[in-house]
Parts: sequence; structure tokens; C-alpha cells
Amino acid sequence: MASTYDTGAIEVASGVYAFIQAGGATDAGFIVDRDGVVVIDTLMTASLANQLLAEVRRVTDAPIRHIINTHWHGDHVFGNAVLPQVPIIAHDTCREDLLAEWDGHRAFLRDLYPALWPEMEPLEATPPDITFETKATLHLASRSVELMFLGRAHTRGDVVAYLPDVGVAFAGDLAFHKYIPNARDGFPADWITAASRLEDLGADIIVPGHGPLGSNAELHEMRECLELVVGQVRQSYEAGLTEEQARDALQLGPFADWGRQEDRLPGVVRRAYMELRGDL
Ligand SMILES: [Zn+2]
Repeated sequence: MASTYDTGAIEVASGVYAFIQAGGATDAGFIVDRDGVVVIDTLMTASLANQLLAEVRRVTDAPIRHIINTHWHGDHVFGNAVLPQVPIIAHDTCREDLLAEWDGHRAFLRDLYPALWPEMEPLEATPPDITFETKATLHLASRSVELMFLGRAHTRGDVVAYLPDVGVAFAGDLAFHKYIPNARDGFPADWITAASRLEDLGADIIVPGHGPLGSNAELHEMRECLELVVGQVRQSYEAGLTEEQARDALQLGPFADWGRQEDRLPGVVRRAYMELRGDL
């Protein structure tokens, strides 16, 4: 099916590639430097990881030296097992959660994407082996990659990979462009703060975890969507409505045409209620 936006490996700056999938499926990316390649997220199945690898190989023969995992969700990290076994860098809690949630999360994705399970099933847990709490810098031959944790958002350990020389930010699932953000393990109110910190970076190009390439404009739009939803949910909570009633009362206004409302809005409401009750 034709996508409404550009997909595939897109060179967004010299040597910097976004790997964008159609239909809001998971995005990834890679950075080609003189002496090696950094891959950002490894996708969910062996086929997808191999597609990403093939795109790397179309551009360069240089070895993959590092992998960055933006967070622990399987659609971003299962491919760790397929790519060359090089150091994998992520947030401290990405490693913890990937290991602790492995069985349950695999069962969740099996039920969500049964047709893809045969391809996920054999992949072994391959957790990050270099982790950090707030900030780290990966020094490549000709540029540096700033890795930053901007606060709880889509998970408790989302990492942004920022290339200051070209103003490109790989935002992982901190950024959902044109799709309702997935907050199943998220912190909707905190997410607004983290998104505004990312906006403050002033990146020219933001590679989201799902949906089309964007800039601060698209990120800003996502933050407004979250603000609108979280604000309405807070009113419903204060009025004593149930989560289901809060979901039904949502008026998305300018975001009414965004994808994945049916399956994702209940999760945003559930987690926003947990935040309001002080359970998170
Ligand atoms: Zn995710």
C-alpha cells in the first residue's frame, strides 16, 4: 500500500539516515562515519532487522560499531539479536526493563502481531551492555552523538540521540508524528515536560519512533495533542468520572484524524489516571 509519507532509508544529513516505515510502524536509523556505523534501534523481527542491515550495506561496507536502543520495547530492540554483536548503549532502566519484562512483553507482542510471531519467537534477549542515567556522549571519528534522557515519557528510560553538528535528533518513541502516542508504559503528564525539553534543543530534523520524519513543528503538535488529552482527562478525573467515561468524553479537535485512537487512547487515559492518583 502506498504510504502517505516518505518511507525507507532517507539521508537526512550527510551520513545520517532515518529508516522510516509506512503506516506508523516502527522507525529506526543509522549514522555512517569514517570508521564505522552506529545503528539506532533494531526493529522487531529478523526480516526487519535484515532490511535495516541491507540499507546500511547499500551505503557502506564499514562495520557496525555501536547500537543505540532508544527504549526497551520489542519493536525497537528484538533485532539486537540479529545485528552484529557490538556494544549496545541505552538508559539504565532500558536494560532492567528489557530483562524483567522479556517474557510478558513477548507474549504481548505475539498476541498483537500473531502473523509475525514465528519471526520473533527465536530471537534471544540481547540487552544493552553500556547504560547511563542522564547523559552520555558517543565520540565518532568525525562527529559526536549526544545521548540524553529528558525525563519519563513513553517509558521510564527513553533516550534521544542528538547530532549537534547537523541538528538531527533520533527521538525514539518520545516522538510520535501524526499518530496517537502509545502510553501503555508511559507517563502522559511527564511526557509533556520531556517533549518540551526536546523542543528546546531546537533540532532541525526529528526522527520519531513511529510515523513520518518531522521537525520541531511535528513534535510540538504531538505535545499539544498530549496536553489536550491530559488536560481533558484531568477534568474528568476531578469530576469523578471512570476511566471509560473519561475516554468517551475526549474531544480530539485538531487531532481527530490521527491514527491508532481506538487502541491507544484507553492506555493514555489509564496511565494519566495512575499519574493523577500518584500511582506512578
Ligand atoms: Zn515503544
